[in-house]
Formats: sequence, structure tokens, C-alpha cells
Amino acid sequence: MPLPYFQFRDFPVGLEAQVQQAVQEAVAGKQYVLGPQVQAFEQEFASYLGAETAIGVGNGYDALVIALKGLGIGAGDEVVLPVHTFIATVNAVLQVGARPVLAEPNKYTYNLTAEMAAPHITPKTKAILAVHLYGQVCQMEELQQLAQTQSIKLLEDAAQAHGAKYKGRFAGSIGDAAAFSFYPTKNLGALGDAGAVVSSDAYVSAFAARYRNYGESRKYNSELVGVNSRLDELQAAVLRVKLRHLDALNLERQRLAQVYFQELQNTGDLILPHMAPDCAHVYHIFNIRTQHRDALQAWLQAQGIGTAIHYPVPVHLQPAYTFLGHKAGDFPVAEELARTSLSLPLFPGLTEAEQQRVVEAVKAFFRQ
Ligand SMILES: *Cc1c(COP(=O)(O)O)cnc(C)c1O
Repeated sequence: MPLPYFQFRDFPVGLEAQVQQAVQEAVAGKQYVLGPQVQAFEQEFASYLGAETAIGVGNGYDALVIALKGLGIGAGDEVVLPVHTFIATVNAVLQVGARPVLAEPNKYTYNLTAEMAAPHITPKTKAILAVHLYGQVCQMEELQQLAQTQSIKLLEDAAQAHGAKYKGRFAGSIGDAAAFSFYPTKNLGALGDAGAVVSSDAYVSAFAARYRNYGESRKYNSELVGVNSRLDELQAAVLRVKLRHLDALNLERQRLAQVYFQELQNTGDLILPHMAPDCAHVYHIFNIRTQHRDALQAWLQAQGIGTAIHYPVPVHLQPAYTFLGHKAGDFPVAEELARTSLSLPLFPGLTEAEQQRVVEAVKAFFRQ
């Protein structure tokens, strides 16, 4: 029986039925765009996070773009961000006309830190874009201090960190603004594309609420030149159901992660995820590292066990981004991560027998 890297399961049991029920009700509501479901979800998500507002948008990429614009970032500005991230983070900066300035991640947490960001700050820098990679929040206090002393903005890419905490605060509620993606496989996922801009800055929220809907403050009154990046009612209805289970889903991810930690410690040259201080990790991705990554991935594949690599080619070595002017060797930490990282199956509903199969196969690989 093949075990995929990721699969949607009915966890907690009954969730699928609740989602179907919510979809049916939203269909029956006959109001499909920017209706009561979206409004309710926005309120519930903001209140869950402890932020002032959440504005539903079309996807995580748009959330990043709209948050950047709302923070006043545009042509001629520089934004410091980690080179080890999903490509959307970089694209969003380019989309608003700013220059992405890439920084190495910390070699233990794989996240951007104030120490790594500071040397890249110039008079043109307008923001730091911190990505809470794999479900672990960046060390935000130091980043906030840096942003404050430099009078620049701090934006969170929280697309992998729904429900993750740092010093008791939720990812997405700490910086000047945050972008969330609700892509189906994220910890809080819709049944299609969806995203949100979260902020406690009234200007950012007001901007996002207009910009996502052609700049309208009222019907046919455009206060600014906006786009169409609306969250639709069906997705909002689904997200409302799943938000109620987010803590339970994350607890299950944390439990599964603990099993991997226990079973895989001291196995070959494996490096397991590093717990940063003051962080509650939500394991969007369970990343392990080994010098024998490709062989281990092939070994697992031969036994029907799916894995993934986040991310195989760092941003600065992607063909589309050569214009940024980097070359191999410029970011040794990110390049080492790309060469050695492997993500193991970890999703709510993964059974004990399935996880044991993964554990045994990994151990057997290192016993050869
Ligand atoms: C998923 C993701 C995004 C983009 O979200 P989409 O909804 O797919 O546009 C942005 N940043 C990170 C770190 C992500 O993981």
C-alpha cells in the first residue's frame, strides 16, 4: 500500500461531514461573494489570533502583495527576506515593484533572524519580511527591535504557521501585518485557493478591504485602484468549520512530531527539527536533514513511502531569478538546506501503523 506524503483524512472524525454541511448551507444562502460567511470568518480568525482585523483575499500570494502595498512598500524600496522560502514570498515583493534582498536563514531554526537581516539593511530598506517556515515562528522580539530602531515595517509570512505561537502570541498577530494562505494543504486549509491579510494597523486593514475589491469603499465608489482578490463564501464557510478544529489539528501534528523525535533521535546522521526558544511549532512540515538525502528519498519511494523536499532549489539559484545577480556559493546555509532536507509524511489522520512504517524504513536505511 503506497503511503503518500500528504493525504486529506477525516480528522477529527466527522470533520468532512461538517465541511459538507457548511458548504450546503453556504450554497443555500445564495450569496456567493463577500457575504455573511466571509464577514463571520474574518471576525473569528482575527479574534482567534488576537489581532484587530483579518481581511479575506483570494490566496496567500495576494495576501502578501496586498499587505506590502498596505504598508506602503513600492518601487525603489528594498525588502529583506530569507532566501530559504517558498517562491511566493519573493514574487510578492517583486510584484509591488520593490527589490527583494535575500538573507541567509539561521542554520538551526532555518528562519530569518535579526542577526542575519541586519547586515542587509540600507537606507532604501522599508521592511523585513519574516517567514515562519515549516510552522515555527521566527524570533520576533529581536526582529521587532531591529525594525523599530531602523523605522521600517515588519511583515509576517504566516502561510505555514496557523496557530503557531511565540511567547504566547499567535503567528500573524505580532508584526505590522501578516499574510496567511489557506491553500488546501496548509494547517488551516480551504477547498481551493484562499488567503487573508491580518493586521492591527487600521490603515492596512482599510486598504486591504478596499484593494481586494476594486478599491471600492461602497458599491461603485472606488477610492483607490484595486484588483479582484476576494475570498468567496463557500471557502469562508469551510474555513469557519476548520478554524474551530485548528487547535486539535495542530495538537495532532505536534503529537505525530513527538513520535518522530522519539523514534528517530540518534539515527544515522539525521538532523531533526530544532526547537527555538519560546516557540510552539505546528509542524506544517516535518523536515529532517541528512547528507544521504537523495538515497534516503529513493529508498523510501521504493517502499511506497512518499516524501517531499522543501525546497530543492534555493531562490537565488532558480532560473527565473538570475536577474537578482546571485551565484552558487552566495548563500551556503540555504544551499546546504536545499541539498540535505527531506520532509516526512505528517498530517492529521496519519495512523500509528503508517507512521511506524516510515520510522522503520528510515531506521533500516541507516542500518544498511
Ligand atoms: C503557501 C505559501 C505561500 C503562498 O500561498 P498561496 O495561497 O499558494 O498563494 C506563501 N508563502 C509561504 C511560505 C507559503 O508556504
